[in-house]
Amino acid sequence: MSERLYYQDAYAVRFTAVITELVRENGRLAIVLDRSYFYPTSGGQPADRGVINDMPALDVTVRPEDGAVLHWVDGDGREIETGAVTAVIDWPRRFDHMQHHTGQHILSQAFIRTAQAQTVSFHLSDDTVTIDLDVPDLTPEQVRQAERLANQIVWENRPVHIRMATLEEARQMSLRKLPPVKNGQLRLIDIENFDLTACGGTHVARTGGVGLIKITRLERRRGQLRVEFRCGGRALADYGRKNETVARLVADLTTGQAELVTAVASLQTENKEASRTIKKLRAALLQVEAKRLLAAGQKMGGFTVVTRVFDAEDGANLRVLGAQLSQKPGVVALLGLAGSKSQLLFCRSDDAPGEMDKLLQAALQALGRGGGGGSPQMAQGGGAAADNGRLRQILSQIEQQLRQQIAG
Ligand SMILES: [Zn+2]
Repeated sequence: MSERLYYQDAYAVRFTAVITELVRENGRLAIVLDRSYFYPTSGGQPADRGVINDMPALDVTVRPEDGAVLHWVDGDGREIETGAVTAVIDWPRRFDHMQHHTGQHILSQAFIRTAQAQTVSFHLSDDTVTIDLDVPDLTPEQVRQAERLANQIVWENRPVHIRMATLEEARQMSLRKLPPVKNGQLRLIDIENFDLTACGGTHVARTGGVGLIKITRLERRRGQLRVEFRCGGRALADYGRKNETVARLVADLTTGQAELVTAVASLQTENKEASRTIKKLRAALLQVEAKRLLAAGQKMGGFTVVTRVFDAEDGANLRVLGAQLSQKPGVVALLGLAGSKSQLLFCRSDDAPGEMDKLLQAALQALGRGGGGGSPQMAQGGGAAADNGRLRQILSQIEQQLRQQIAG
């Protein structure tokens, strides 16, 4: 079993060790060392990264059978067949994990003290850090209180002690959380006069190292409350991003930071009103268009046939236009919309002749691809790409067939 040096010192990043085993699995290579400062994935905390003899260490895991720490490296291992290695841990990543692990202990205890809410799980990844509380919800004031207390503990810069204890001893100590082990030594993390819990992770030596604890989001889920938070460097980066966003909005909306929410709300109201106006204008425009088309329609045996092909950028709504035209007596409308997905809509008034479904099938056949259908009164379809000229050509053939239907 490898000696886990990070248990006692989370700040050491460079060390030498002796290779005790090389593991090859599915073309990957793992190095087992007699001692290691690398933290392996466990307890909701991701593994350290770094380099071992210049080979990148991509992942670190524990072999369940014997507790050996496997350092998975990018390399074929030819250069390390024997002897000692020098290893360096990726410090910014390690410190980020230390800040968040310690921050989590502090925040979990703060929620107990201010809201009697217990932490039931913890998740730390490169993107998000969350704890789940065993309460369905908390008031904004309760959340603020917990955050305030947590930061108070950070600013007091209290020592974070590492203690070892047997399970029996630990039972006497009123730990926040006892791990599911039956025997052996426990590693306890003691944030002086504030929080005592069993944990195998990496932590800062004094609470001041956490820098800042900021709750960024709450999510109610299945009777629990998920609290997303950021500590130290991540909190600062997040603050930077948010500051940039606010500065940009303030400049774009030419308003003050305090007036930003009101400015956006009034923009939304204006936008809604504009949309309503556009809708009304479009409807009025369509009525004008319908009248114009009707006036220009061809007379065919006492009926009016309106044939018109629109381009995609006209934004024409064939259904609405067809409905308006066929409301008038004695009208047949053959409408098309050109573009990468052409549309056809044929319709007629109740008192006009013609079988629209049959005409549509003929048009689709001429178009070559696409589908659609309907009734003798109204049919629609399309799908294939067709330009304005092509659709006009097809519709003039359909006019001929309509003429025959009217004559027959
Ligand atoms: Zn921890």
